[in-house]
Amino acid sequence: MRDMLPLLDVIPFPAVRRGRLDTLQINVGYRCNQSCFHCHVNAGPNRTEEMSAEVADTVLAFLARRRVAKLDITGGAPELNAHFRRLVVEARELGTHVMDRCNLTILEQPGQEDLAQFLADNRVEIVASMPCYLQDNVERQRGKGVFDGSIRGLKRLNALGYGRGAALPLNLVYNPQGPALPPAQAELEADYRRVLGERYGIVFNKLFVLANMPIQRFGSTLVSKGEFDGYLQLLQDAHLDANLDGVMCRNLMSVDWQGFVYDCDFNQMLGLPLKRGQRTHLRLADLIDDDIAGNPVRVAGHCYGCTAGQGSSCGGALKEAAE
Ligand code: SF4
Ligand code: SF4
Repeated sequence: MRDMLPLLDVIPFPAVRRGRLDTLQINVGYRCNQSCFHCHVNAGPNRTEEMSAEVADTVLAFLARRRVAKLDITGGAPELNAHFRRLVVEARELGTHVMDRCNLTILEQPGQEDLAQFLADNRVEIVASMPCYLQDNVERQRGKGVFDGSIRGLKRLNALGYGRGAALPLNLVYNPQGPALPPAQAELEADYRRVLGERYGIVFNKLFVLANMPIQRFGSTLVSKGEFDGYLQLLQDAHLDANLDGVMCRNLMSVDWQGFVYDCDFNQMLGLPLKRGQRTHLRLADLIDDDIAGNPVRVAGHCYGCTAGQGSSCGGALKEAAE
């Protein structure tokens, strides 16, 4: 896979400074029960990178010390990490809101039969990737059998009370299949609600519509097809300064499985670490007593993926995410 950073780093982007930290997003490892074609961390069953007990302890200490409102847990399939449940339980005891980026099929893997109940018992918000409400489109991105497994997972979560109100939020994530801006979030959400409701009786809280970032496998594919410049131009032409206030790096910090920190998950995937003065390659433990509000964010060309059109963040379109 091509290193995208040299191509993106030469593209200017307006300066962004961090605001108050309200979300710690942790990637607990790359092991996954699926191996999706488009996976931006190249996760799969044979990956062995995994957040250790020591780093998990630092995460919990950081949450306690800094009173961070939200813990957003991602992977791989984050539930496969040996410390996942401890992180959830102890973060909830601290009063932290916990989000699990769940692939849905994990709910029926051997050994995970009680996972859905565990998540409900701990009032964990579920954010589940569902790139389409049509079987063919989902399976082209995520593999054969994934659509039916995802539908079964959603039904199971609904049966536990997920997706019916604020107590157990179930949010779905959509991103376009190719180098195009995503459609309007509100309209697509209405389509999802209608089709999943009529065909399968499924309910959910919100649909988060995300833009594709020109990084990792998607970025490499753009380059090899000669579509990189065109896609970057599309994003730049659709850039709105008004979206700069809402980009997620203003209030979120991303931590990798080894405990290194980044301004966001995309920078983590690009290998562009958070910079504090002249220091880079900081670990979470280095920042436990350091308030980084006001710190400049490491921006580059991929950031137009966050500010194009309706804007894009891990909570979907920026306008809706702010509401
Ligand atoms: S389910 Fe998610 S983490 Fe797992 S391979 Fe697919 S995209 Fe990657
Ligand atoms: S890609 Fe990351 S650093 Fe760039 S604007 Fe988006 S959230 Fe911020």
